[in-house]
Amino acid sequence: MDRIIIVGAGTMGAGIAFVAARAGFAVDLVDPDAATRQRAVERIAKEAERAKRTDVAAAVTLHERLPASGDAVLAIEAVPERLDAKVEIFRALENALDPHALLATNTSSLSVDAIASELAHPERVVGLHFFNPPAAMKLVEIVRGARSSEEALDRARGFVERFERTAVLTADTPGFIVNRVARPFYLQAMRAYASGVAPIEDLDRLARGAGFRMGPFELMDFIGLDVNLATSQSIYQRTGAHRLEPIAAQREMVAAGALGRKTGRGFYDYAAGGPSRGEDSVAPATEPNEDERIVVLGFGSTALEFHELLAQHYAAVGAVENEEFLDEIPMDTTIVVDTGDGVSDREEIVRELDTLLPPETVIFVDAYATDLGALSERLKHPERVVGYGVLGALAAQSAVEIVDAPATSDDALELAQELFASIGKAAVLVEDAPGLFLGRTIGSVINEAVHAVQDGVASADDVDVAMRLGTNYPIGPIAWGREIGGNRLSRILHRLAQAEGAAFAPHRALWVLDADQEASESEAALDA
Ligand code: NAD
Repeated sequence: MDRIIIVGAGTMGAGIAFVAARAGFAVDLVDPDAATRQRAVERIAKEAERAKRTDVAAAVTLHERLPASGDAVLAIEAVPERLDAKVEIFRALENALDPHALLATNTSSLSVDAIASELAHPERVVGLHFFNPPAAMKLVEIVRGARSSEEALDRARGFVERFERTAVLTADTPGFIVNRVARPFYLQAMRAYASGVAPIEDLDRLARGAGFRMGPFELMDFIGLDVNLATSQSIYQRTGAHRLEPIAAQREMVAAGALGRKTGRGFYDYAAGGPSRGEDSVAPATEPNEDERIVVLGFGSTALEFHELLAQHYAAVGAVENEEFLDEIPMDTTIVVDTGDGVSDREEIVRELDTLLPPETVIFVDAYATDLGALSERLKHPERVVGYGVLGALAAQSAVEIVDAPATSDDALELAQELFASIGKAAVLVEDAPGLFLGRTIGSVINEAVHAVQDGVASADDVDVAMRLGTNYPIGPIAWGREIGGNRLSRILHRLAQAEGAAFAPHRALWVLDADQEASESEAALDA
């Protein structure tokens, strides 16, 4: 039976020990703290029971210090994030173990190189970054140090496979893949909240409606605001990238002890019951609506999807693909859903519609591409315009953000809510802002993913696998970017950058997502 040494029996060490023992390894688990060792034994027994593998617990032997035998094939270090402590452990491991043993650190925020460079044989050191809880989380990021050998990386992959985990390969850069690419999900959400886009319950609801298991605020409460902030701070300090700068309001909350669930208060008040999730799903209408006469204006997949969905619930739905033929829109049309091309500002077209159509006709405008504020100043009837945001496939979104603009009438907003409800989608009101909420947040996550690929952190495929398995994203950010379109994302992020600073600008390579899509060659261009 192959033997593995795990140093540190805390949250991660105990979890990894269980995973390794379940995979058939003999595990030596080392921790100087007696109470921690006791807790580790209990936790492993519980996991083994849950997995109906009570035999597994017997494969783990607890030790107060490194066992003398040198026959282990792998050592994984999982002690607290202090470089000096880790280096000391690696020196001891290097001396104690057979020269062929692979040495791995589970560090989240330190550089593998900083540890490895202190050793006589840095080529045998890699990162094996497990996620919490290791027994449930399928992903392991294999971190390639500057001096990790190919053989060490191959062996690391072999171990991860034997653990029945999925490996992705990442460069030794701050936050590796997952913690880095996930940053904008939290940071942009907090920025949107700080600028008054909507209350946190609504923002979390929108995120769940886009396919995330938890919204950013409930998730930060769950993780702990202090833990989340520490990760942001570490990545920001090491990269200096302004787009990843932590938010002052979060620092203040941490200083005030509002850490989330564990202190009873974070973004939500847990004494008052925490987030009230209510009913996220909206049942589509069962009776066909005969009152409205709808025209979908635009071409491309969003227009097609709107048309198809609306036609299932409304008796009268037409389509005008080409804006040269606006005069084909019947005068008794009650709603025009303008999807445009997803990229261009629609001011000119909407102004034409405003002149052509009677004032009662409500016009839905893509708020990601169009500057609604500027538009409403130039209309005769701005009260009839409702901004909405659809990002990627409408079918994948159970909630849609609609803009509560000052000029928009309550009747128009109500009609928008009714229309989205009838196709089974919650319409959540947000204030007008570049990218609204989902556009800026998801757009910035995708942008970060493109930065990571372009910086050589990982391949596009590995970034997608990592985000699906490491953070439960509904779809990998690169694939999501291809679905939304690089040009559309660029438009959203250009507007965000104009409003909030050049740091948030789209990466130059975003357009490649569209080129890839056209060539339908998965990642060739982006990775080049
Ligand atoms: P933890 O505090 O729960 O456990 C660390 C353990 O190491 C403690 O039990 C401590 O007694 C022990 N220890 C300290 N010095 C030791 C030594 N010289 N020899 C042996 N054991 C020693 O910490 P954790 O959350 O398990 O994190 C461990 C590592 O895993 C860190 O590098 C962290 O960044 C990384 N990590 C943590 C998470 C997470 O969510 N907790 C996720 C991924 C990676």
